[in-house]
Amino acid sequence: MNLKELYQEIILDHGKNPRNLRKTDNFNKDAKGHNPLCGDKVHVYLKLDESKKVEDISFEGQGCAISMASASIMTSMVKGKEEHEVKEIINDFLEMIKEKETLDTKLLSEDEKTKLMCLSGVKQYPMRVKCATLSWHTLTSAIDKSQNEINIESLEI
Ligand code: ZN
Repeated sequence: MNLKELYQEIILDHGKNPRNLRKTDNFNKDAKGHNPLCGDKVHVYLKLDESKKVEDISFEGQGCAISMASASIMTSMVKGKEEHEVKEIINDFLEMIKEKETLDTKLLSEDEKTKLMCLSGVKQYPMRVKCATLSWHTLTSAIDKSQNEINIESLEI
C-alpha cells in the first residue's frame, strides 16, 4: 500500500465511522460551522476543565467524507490537550493545509501527524480546503467565543 492509498483509507474510515460524533454532556463551549459551497455542517462541543484542559470534545453534523473525516480526526487529537496547545495544533494544521509540506508541532505523535497529513491532498483543490478546515475554524470560534456560527465561505483561508 502506498502513501496515497493509506491516506485514502484513513479518510474513508473516519468519513464512514466518525469518532466523537455525539453531543458532549455539560459542554461549556460550542460553535457551529457551515460550508454552503459543499453543504457541510458541523457543530463542535467542547468541555474545558478548570485548568482549561480539554476534558471532552465532540461534534454533530453532516457533510462530505472529507469534512466528516477532518472533524473526526481533529476531535480525536485535541482531547486531553490544554487550550493553548489546541490553538497551536489548529494553526499548524491550517498552515500545512495552505502551504507547508509538514506539520511542525511537537504536541502530536508521528501517528497522529500521519492521520492529519491524510488531508494534505486537498491543497490543490480550494473547494476541498474549505471542507477540510471547516471543523477547525469552528473549533477556533468555540474556543474564542468569537462567533456562534461561522460561514466558511466568508472566511479568508
Ligand atoms: Zn465538503
